[in-house]
Amino acid sequence: MKISKKIQTQAAKLRHTINEHNYFYYVVDDPRVSDGEYDLLFRELQDLEAKYPDLVTADSPSQRVGAIPLDAFAEVVHSVPMLSLNNAFNSQEVEDFAKDLANVEFFAELKFDGLAVSLRYEDGLLVSAATRGDGYTGEDVTANAKTIKVIPLRLRGGNYPAVLEVRGEVFMPKAYFDQLNQKQAARGEKIFANPRNAAAGSLRQLKSRVTAERPLSFFSYAVGVVEGVELPKRHSDVFELLQLWGLPVSLDSQLVTGVAGCLKYYEAILKRREDLAFDIDGVVYKVNDLALQKQLGFVSRAPRWAIAHKFPAQEAITEVNDIDIQVGRTGALTPVARLNPVQVAGVVVTNATLHNQDEMRRKDVRVGDTVVISRAGDVIPAVMRVIFEKRPQESQEFVFPKQCPVCGADVVRVAGEAVARCSGGLFCAAQAKQALKHFASRRAMDIDGLGDKLVEQLIDKGLVKKLVDLYNLTNEQLASLERMGKKSAQNIIAALEKSKSTTLARFIYAIGIREVGESTANTLAKHFGSIEALIATNKQELQNIQDIGPIVAEHIVTFFQQTENINNIEELQAIGINWSPQEANASTDNSLSEEVFVLTGSLSQMTREEAKAKLENLGAKVTNSVSKKTTCLVAGEKAGSKLTKAEALGIKIINESDLIKLYF
Ligand code: NAD
Repeated sequence: MKISKKIQTQAAKLRHTINEHNYFYYVVDDPRVSDGEYDLLFRELQDLEAKYPDLVTADSPSQRVGAIPLDAFAEVVHSVPMLSLNNAFNSQEVEDFAKDLANVEFFAELKFDGLAVSLRYEDGLLVSAATRGDGYTGEDVTANAKTIKVIPLRLRGGNYPAVLEVRGEVFMPKAYFDQLNQKQAARGEKIFANPRNAAAGSLRQLKSRVTAERPLSFFSYAVGVVEGVELPKRHSDVFELLQLWGLPVSLDSQLVTGVAGCLKYYEAILKRREDLAFDIDGVVYKVNDLALQKQLGFVSRAPRWAIAHKFPAQEAITEVNDIDIQVGRTGALTPVARLNPVQVAGVVVTNATLHNQDEMRRKDVRVGDTVVISRAGDVIPAVMRVIFEKRPQESQEFVFPKQCPVCGADVVRVAGEAVARCSGGLFCAAQAKQALKHFASRRAMDIDGLGDKLVEQLIDKGLVKKLVDLYNLTNEQLASLERMGKKSAQNIIAALEKSKSTTLARFIYAIGIREVGESTANTLAKHFGSIEALIATNKQELQNIQDIGPIVAEHIVTFFQQTENINNIEELQAIGINWSPQEANASTDNSLSEEVFVLTGSLSQMTREEAKAKLENLGAKVTNSVSKKTTCLVAGEKAGSKLTKAEALGIKIINESDLIKLYF
C-alpha cells in the first residue's frame, strides 16, 4: 500500500515526540506529559502502524521497551529479556485479547506503578539487582536494592534453586511520597511528579545512602532464569514458591476464569484503589498455565499471554481562579492554586499545591491559566503543568510576595534553599497556629480537645503567644471562647494537666524541629536519654547516629542555637512537663527483632501508639495490615477484618493481657 507523505510525516512526528517523552520519563525520571496523554500518543502510533505496517521502523517506540541504560551505572545483560505489557483501556480490548482464550484460567494481579527490577540469587544469596533498561540490558543497582528492607538478602527455606532471577516492581508507598516531596521542596531539590518517578529516581541513585533514606518497597511478580529446581506448571504455584522462599508477593492476586472473571477482578480492585498503600495504574491478567504461555509467546515488546487493563487517569484539566500563599509551621510559604472544582478519580478537587517559588516559576502558573492537575497516589493534588495554548492574553506573571501575607514580616530565602520563609517566627500568627496545632497533636503532647478552631482563637485573641502560655490558661479565659462552655474549659485544663506527663521522644517531636518527625524523635530520645544531652550535642555526633543525615543534623543544631527555643523548653519544664528518665541507648533489648506485629481493635490499658512504641523498642516491626509476613496479631476489643484474615492465614493471635504478660 502506498503511504502518503502526510501519513509518513505524522508517524515520524509521533515517533519523535514519544521518544522525547521516553527520555524524560525513563532516563531523567521527570516526565513532561501525563501518562494518560502519553498513552494516547502511543496508541495513535500503534493504530497508524497497524493500518500501514510498512511504516514500522526498527527504532519505533512501538518496537522497544523503556530506554537504553544510563552510562553512570554498570550494565547488566538480562539472560531472559524483561519486556513490557500490552495495554487494554476498556473491557472490549480485554475481550479482544482473550478471544481465543475462552474459559482459560488467568492469574489476575495488581499493576504496581513503580519500576521493574530483576533480582538474582545464587545459592540463596542476593548477588545482583538490575533495572529493566531497554529490556535486554539494565542498570546495575545492587547496592541500592540491598537497602530496601523487604528484599531478602538471603532466601528462606532450604529448597530454593541454585540460581533464581526474580522479577518484580520497586515502588514507593503513597504516604512517603508526600513526605518526600515536602522534604524535597524544603531542601530545594527535585519535586517528583508521582510515586513512580520518585521510586525510579530513588533507586537509580549513584549514592546508596540516598536510596537508603527513601522508603522503597518491592513485590515480586515473575521469574526469569531458574536453575536447579523444576518449577511448577502454573504461574500461581510459582507465586506460592516465591513466598516460601521469603520473597514479598502481593496477597491481592487472584485466580479468575475467562473475561468475566477478569472484569470482576478489575471492578473490585478499582473500588479499593484509593485504600491501597501504594499506587497502581491498573491490573494485569496472565494466562496461568505456563505451557500455554510458552505456546502463545511474544510479539515485539510484550507477551501475548498477558495484558495490562489500565485504570482511568488520575489527572484532570481545570482553571486556576486564584493563587494564595499559605504559611506553614516553620514559616515556609507555599503557593496554592485555587481551582474551578473538578472531579479527579472520584474526588472533587478545589486546591492544588504549587510547592514553592522555584517550582512556580519553572511551571509559570498564573491566575486564569488552564492547568493539568494530578492527585495520583497523592492526597495533596498538585499542578503538573500549564496548557499554554489556552493562556488568556491579558495574563500576568504571579509575583511572589516579599512580605508575609499573614504578619507582614520580611520573606527571606536562605542561600541554597528553595523555600521562602516568613521571618516572623512565633510572632507570625500563621506560624504560631501551626506550631501550636503540632504541639497539641495526638502523636506529640496529645492534648485532648485542643483542636484547630480553638488554637486559632487562642492565637487570634492573644491568649497564647508562646507554648508555655497554654499551661497558664484559666478556666474563665477558655470558657469565654466561642463554642466553649464551663465543662469543655474544665476538660481542656484537665487534658493540659494530663499532657504534662509525657515521654522524651514525644516532647522532642512536639517542639517542632524542622524535619524531625516521630521516628527521628524516637531515635534521638533513645540515643541521648535527656533533653540536656540533646541540646549539648553537635553536628558530628548527630551524623554518627544511624538514619540522621547532614541536613537534619544541621536543623537540630540550629534549632538549639536559638535562645527562644531554649527558653521555651526551660519554661515548659518549669511548669511541670516531665518524662521518666531514660538511659542512653536504653533499648539494647532486641528480643523481638524477628517479629512482625499487627495491632487491631481497641486496647484498654494503653493506646495502640504506646503498644507500638513498646514493641518497636524491643526490636519488633509493627505494620498496619496482615500478611503472610505477620508473626503475631494483637486483637483488642471489637477486632474485625484483620482478625479474620489472621485466622485464615494461621497467624498467632493474642489479646491485650497476653501482650502485657508476654512482652512488656
Ligand atoms: P507499563 O508500565 O505499562 O507495563 C509494563 C510494566 O508493568 C512492567 O515492566 C512492570 O514494571 C510493570 N508491572 C507492574 N505490575 C506488574 C505485574 N503484576 N506483572 C507484570 N508487570 C507488572 O509499560 P512500560 O513499557 O514500562 O511503560 C509504558 C507506560 O509508562 C505508559 O503506558 C505510560 O503510562 C508510562 N510512560 C509515561 C511517559 C510520560 O512521559 N508520561 C513516558 C513513557 C512511559
